[in-house]
Amino acid sequence: MSADRFASDAEYVHGTLQGMEVREYLLAKWNRTCTYCGATGVPLNIDHIHPRSRGGSDRISNLTLACIPCNEQKGNKPVEEFLKKKPALLSKVLQQAKAPLRDPAAVNATRCALIQTLKASHQDVRPSSGGRTKWNRERTATPKTHTLDALCVGALESVARHPGTVLVVTATGRGTYRRTTPDRYGFPRLNLPRAKQQFGFATGDLVRANVPTGKKQGRHTGRVAVRATGNFNIKTDHGLVQGIHHRHIRLLQRADGYGYTTRAEADHD
Ligand SMILES: [Zn+2]
Repeated sequence: MSADRFASDAEYVHGTLQGMEVREYLLAKWNRTCTYCGATGVPLNIDHIHPRSRGGSDRISNLTLACIPCNEQKGNKPVEEFLKKKPALLSKVLQQAKAPLRDPAAVNATRCALIQTLKASHQDVRPSSGGRTKWNRERTATPKTHTLDALCVGALESVARHPGTVLVVTATGRGTYRRTTPDRYGFPRLNLPRAKQQFGFATGDLVRANVPTGKKQGRHTGRVAVRATGNFNIKTDHGLVQGIHHRHIRLLQRADGYGYTTRAEADHD
């Protein structure tokens, strides 16, 4: 795939998928700066190096990025006239315009070959791109967050609502199969209990304890570590609470090797 494919039909208009791909390509090629004044971190327009009104083409080799003031100043002027006081920059721009963008072009070629290979052996292969993700995000007014970007990958028609909370799943493991703890010479030091459950609870279960009186009084929510004595430890958000009797404990969720918590989506950008 050549880079020129992007602009073959002049569909680089802002807001279209094609336009977003072209923008991403140009941002990489021109290093996210205004070609004419070097400004960064400002809005950049797509600029025809040779103006269309003077016969400049829509090919991507004739496109660059310009900040709004430069874009307006340049207008329909020939680029040679606009940059007549900066001949070094002029020749640099003209040279850079013709230069293919090697790395992205190589990535693109690899990507195409990969898609073709996958399509040969799988029925439903739908490629996506960073440009499409961005296009989906802007089109559906989705905030840019790590989680919501996952929503915007691939073909997306519309977004009915944005989630306010996300489920966070953490792998916590399923305990150990080891039935003893060795000492430093490798001799068995103590026998771990054979039974995984004690009084109906297993280590790792998510529980809530409601302790009515005493030093441990209060509510403690977290993962339980069971003991044969019936006095369990609970690992809560604010630390380990030790020696809670099982009759104060209520099961919230069985341990399945994963920890589940939720957090507000807006908290993380
Ligand atoms: Zn500029």
